[in-house]
Amino acid sequence: MPAILETRNLTKVFYRGSLLARDRIVAVDNVSFQMKRGEVFTLAGESGCGKTTVARMILGFEHPTSGEIVYENNEAKKNEKVWFNQRIQAVFQNPFETFNPLRKVEGYLFETVRNYRLASDRSAAEKLINSKLEAVGLSFSEVQGRYPSEFSGGQLQRISIARSLLVDPSLLIADEPVSMVDASIRMSIVNLFKHLRDELNMGILYITHDLATAYYLNGQIAVMFRGNTMEMGPVQQVLMNPLHPYTQLLRESIPEADPAKKWQGRISIAETEQEEYLREGCKFAGRCPQVMEICKKQVPDIVSIDGVQVKCHLYSGTKGRQKEVS
Ligand code: SF4
Repeated sequence: MPAILETRNLTKVFYRGSLLARDRIVAVDNVSFQMKRGEVFTLAGESGCGKTTVARMILGFEHPTSGEIVYENNEAKKNEKVWFNQRIQAVFQNPFETFNPLRKVEGYLFETVRNYRLASDRSAAEKLINSKLEAVGLSFSEVQGRYPSEFSGGQLQRISIARSLLVDPSLLIADEPVSMVDASIRMSIVNLFKHLRDELNMGILYITHDLATAYYLNGQIAVMFRGNTMEMGPVQQVLMNPLHPYTQLLRESIPEADPAKKWQGRISIAETEQEEYLREGCKFAGRCPQVMEICKKQVPDIVSIDGVQVKCHLYSGTKGRQKEVS
């Protein structure tokens, strides 16, 4: 099956400071992955790892410094906002920010129908909206005439997803979609993504710091740290048998064996984020329990081990099980 979305050596560089003394921060460093239709691909990592910057570049909110984004075999052109490409839709972290509190929620749904000319009259529009709301467990009668404050965060996130579905997208980009909804309804939203994947054959790019929901959604995962993909492969394999010390640390911070339970023991965010971005060699060297001298000087290559790609000197030079891929 051809890839629905592919990034090739995607890179984003920011500069901080004055012209005379400025730091070059590589927020996304040569990130390459591909995902298929009907598949969940998770970008995981703590805050500041670069995963949202990857999503922003795919959506066209940021321009890549270098690299390519290919969607259904079409390379995104400079300045093109794929956000306006109806085949790609996005759901964001805070559903309360998606909707203006002074505007009735149904207005957003009718507006999308109008913008994309999806229905010939009001009755056809209502029918279409109702069908998409039903796909997320709601109905038009439950939404009609109501303002955002009359819904829970979970309901608003469902409405936001229903609005995305109006245009029959093939790819949904979901950036931390459950981090601001109650834990009690978090799994119902995650199950909704499963449903969209299985029943509508949609590709879902799931961006999260929550490994438990990533595990539950299955598919492929790329674990990011300071702009780099540290480990990438099938979710079950990466999370049950992590190779990279950073993935191992993340994995250990899930206290429950039951993957459906909330990840409670999140690792703390480094106060030295900028320092880590500027670090030579492996970005994780300052926190790695297995750090070696070479890690402080040389960026590790990515090696492939049993279908998992890992970027760590621990695996460099080991013959037989792995081959160098870049
Ligand atoms: Fe740790 Fe070195 Fe591997 Fe980086 S390259 S994760 S510092 S062992």
